[in-house]
Amino acid sequence: MNIQQLLTFAQQNFDRFLEELNAFIAIESVSSDPERSHDIRKAADWLSNKLNSLGLDHVAIFDTPLHPIVFAEKIFDKSAPTILIYGHYDVQPESPVELWNTPPFDATVVGTRLVARGSTDMKGQIIAGLAAVEALLFGKEELPFNLKFIYEGEEEIGSPSIRDFLEEHKELLAADTVLNLDAGMINADTPSITYALRGLAYFELLVKGPAQDLHSGVFGGVVDNPAIVLSQLIAGMKDDQRRITLPGFYEDVRSLSDKEREELARVPQTADTYLSQTGVPHLAGEQGYTCIEQNTARPTLDVHGLLSGFTGEGAKTVIPAWALAKLSMRLVPDQDPVKVADQLKQYLSENAPPTVIWDVKTFTGGYPAFCDPDQPASKALQDAFELTWGKRPVLKREGASIPIVTEMKEILGIDSVLSGFALPEDNMHAPNETLNLEVWRKGILTIIHFFDLYSKQMADA
Ligand SMILES: [Zn+2]
Repeated sequence: MNIQQLLTFAQQNFDRFLEELNAFIAIESVSSDPERSHDIRKAADWLSNKLNSLGLDHVAIFDTPLHPIVFAEKIFDKSAPTILIYGHYDVQPESPVELWNTPPFDATVVGTRLVARGSTDMKGQIIAGLAAVEALLFGKEELPFNLKFIYEGEEEIGSPSIRDFLEEHKELLAADTVLNLDAGMINADTPSITYALRGLAYFELLVKGPAQDLHSGVFGGVVDNPAIVLSQLIAGMKDDQRRITLPGFYEDVRSLSDKEREELARVPQTADTYLSQTGVPHLAGEQGYTCIEQNTARPTLDVHGLLSGFTGEGAKTVIPAWALAKLSMRLVPDQDPVKVADQLKQYLSENAPPTVIWDVKTFTGGYPAFCDPDQPASKALQDAFELTWGKRPVLKREGASIPIVTEMKEILGIDSVLSGFALPEDNMHAPNETLNLEVWRKGILTIIHFFDLYSKQMADA
């Protein structure tokens, strides 16, 4: 069956796909609400029935300490490459419910949009993926690649069970690429694929001076002030080019190729956008880089909180006994949060005066991730977007972390293709979450093209 027939099949079934989505949405799978754990279970059951109805094999619901993980696969040839499709069937809470214009779990079409919790994040994306799989399996008896599926129910609460699950099921989940549709588009006309994410190293820095707060008249001038020392140490962590001064900090930073810089320049996020989004009087990035590069492809250092001495009303003249800062670094490929902790400690040993004692507490961080945008699956999706949207997707990096992408890479060794059809105006996590139905339908066709192009690549290989 040719690609046109697969696309026609999908077009003829759009209404049914939408009905399925509505039924899926009606299950209130709010992962943070213990009262609704039976709904979570119901959503996992619904999904496993759906996977069974598609004729997939080894459909299973795995229990975890919290919410179940749903798995399925279709193996055509063990030696062929495998695409692992990832998704999460849990949703954010609907509160504050009074701000919804329609019932959150009763999907309502308003104009060209479907309004409901989970419509975009990400039940709509799951159904789009499965609709494409259905078209594909309907049209082709044999594929030159295999499919696996994993759906978790804890993404919106930080995925506490997924790490152990990946560790324990490495063989079951073995694949060549992960298709993750939990990201979005830049706008309805501009698709995107995210190929790199920043990691994080987070610390608490304590600087201790006298045994207790001291009278600044009686002792001022002979003892050092921990609040001033802490401020100086922090100020010294960046130079006047706004580069971070921790020893060796940039050694593992992958430099941007000219091609990457050209791609990132396509992201419609300019200095003016940042100015209007933040309300700051002036921007302050590392010299030599554009805003989008500073924000996604370069590491940063920030202070999140400071605590020391007297901060009450009026005046009190103490030399504080200690000063504390919470600080973190956003890391880029191939930095390592463990190494960064050592770099911070080395900086402190070299720069802290002997008048104080310092201590660093390390909080959980995360590794940055880089998923090769030239891998076959990413190429196939780029071409698929070009066919449906008439333009190449923007290949971008993300300033924040998406732990599942990092874990798939770290634990299973698989690069993700991170994309999707969510739009910035879809109110994800907020009241009146929407799904743009026109974009969603185009999304289904895009995934069908993706499978088709990937098949051709694999058949040619
Ligand atoms: Zn999501």
